Amino acid sequence: MRTNWAGNLTFSAERVDRPATLDELRAAVAGATRAKVLGSGHSFNDIADTDGVLLDLTALPADIEVDTAAGTVRVAAGVRYAELAAALHAKGLALPNTASLPHISVAGSVATGTHGSGNANGALGTSVRALDLVASDGEVRTFTRGEPGFDGAVVSLGALGAVTHLVLDTVPTYDIAQHVFTGLALDDALAHLDEITAAAYSVSLFTDWRAPRFTQAWFKQLAGRPAPELPWAEPARTPQHPVPGMDPVHCTVQGGVPGPWHERLPHFRPGFMPSSGDELQAEYLLPRAHAVPALEALAALHETVAPVLRICEVRTVAADDLWLSPAHGRDTVALHFTWIKDPAAVLPVLTRIEQALAPYEARPHWGKLYTTAPEQVRAAYPRMPDFLRLVADTDPSGTFRNAHLSALLDF
Ligand SMILES: Cc1cc2nc3c(=O)[nH]c(=O)nc-3n(C[C@H](O)[C@H](O)[C@H](O)COP(=O)(O)OP(=O)(O)OC[C@H]3O[C@@H](n4cnc5c(N)ncnc54)[C@H](O)[C@@H]3O)c2cc1C
Repeated sequence: MRTNWAGNLTFSAERVDRPATLDELRAAVAGATRAKVLGSGHSFNDIADTDGVLLDLTALPADIEVDTAAGTVRVAAGVRYAELAAALHAKGLALPNTASLPHISVAGSVATGTHGSGNANGALGTSVRALDLVASDGEVRTFTRGEPGFDGAVVSLGALGAVTHLVLDTVPTYDIAQHVFTGLALDDALAHLDEITAAAYSVSLFTDWRAPRFTQAWFKQLAGRPAPELPWAEPARTPQHPVPGMDPVHCTVQGGVPGPWHERLPHFRPGFMPSSGDELQAEYLLPRAHAVPALEALAALHETVAPVLRICEVRTVAADDLWLSPAHGRDTVALHFTWIKDPAAVLPVLTRIEQALAPYEARPHWGKLYTTAPEQVRAAYPRMPDFLRLVADTDPSGTFRNAHLSALLDF
């Protein structure tokens, strides 16, 4: 049976179906008591698992239909951002942002609220204008921005049906130059955090929490804009990898060399190993207004965190209206952790972090590990009752539920 990307879980489906046409997918869904779509399998928890039929959509046509006049692209759900980005760039178009890696599928990323960084950049789902899904009765339903239910259907956790296509807004293509600094003292970072996160289009701060400093600060700046200055740190003289000990060959070009958006905004290059490959991940998203006390709370836990940590990354995300987006209703700071691949050692540390971040209204990333109680997760989303109604309406038979969602959503 298949495993996820990290290899920390084996899917428990009774079988994997790989439909090659929309009609085959519709028949597979309508004939299943339980089903779940697997995207590129990059989630760290069992949100994509099912005890029924695991649907692999990679045999469906990998449509990427660019409408240059409308400035949109209609993309098949299983297409990965690497392929989509190259196709858009070839037509003079771009997406406003990317995650740290281009290896992930569009539908799976959007379904879990995946995001990049940038004070003014929304999560990837904010580019979605419409989506088609096969509901549990086998019928295709379309959700379009501005229509009822749309804001609940984008970050869907895969609970509504099998998404087949998404229509995304695009922007004219643009270039980015990536500037990396090393050795930013925590005190300096916290005293100037708003200034630092506003200093470029997309900013990431990395720390191993082994000392009160950020080991690296990555600034992805629009080409033509002034290079960011960081008087409290040193410009890196050689290419860097954010994870200690990893070869920077895996990373996108740094050193202030301008290049296309999709070759700079992800940290990691397609065709290369993203991150460390031997890891677990967790991430907590909280109002940006709480960033400084939340980071101080983490610093106080450094003796607990550092021994099991590969790297921690701090990013920002603009507020959005998507019901289950972790950035829903609030400009956000995202505190990400890449851990050693040892769940028994890592999970108790997550609980400690969650306790420390509880006063700051933290929402866990849907696709990563967390131990937060389900009722606390549900309470963090004001539109959760609307989402549960949407699930009941779209999937009345409960075909797309799994053990993870039943526990999380209490149905
Ligand atoms: C190395 C690494 C780096 C990462 N970096 C980032 C980052 O920078 N920012 C960030 O926010 N996250 C990041 N993530 C997390 C990742 O973006 C999410 O786990 C995301 O869900 C991955 O997409 P996927 O296609 O692999 O989804 P999967 O794990 O395959 O599925 C996730 C969910 O989406 C559902 N789904 C997938 N496809 C469909 C479909 N067609 N129809 C309906 N439901 C569907 C699944 O059923 C499941 O519920 C990273 C993960 C890794 C491994």
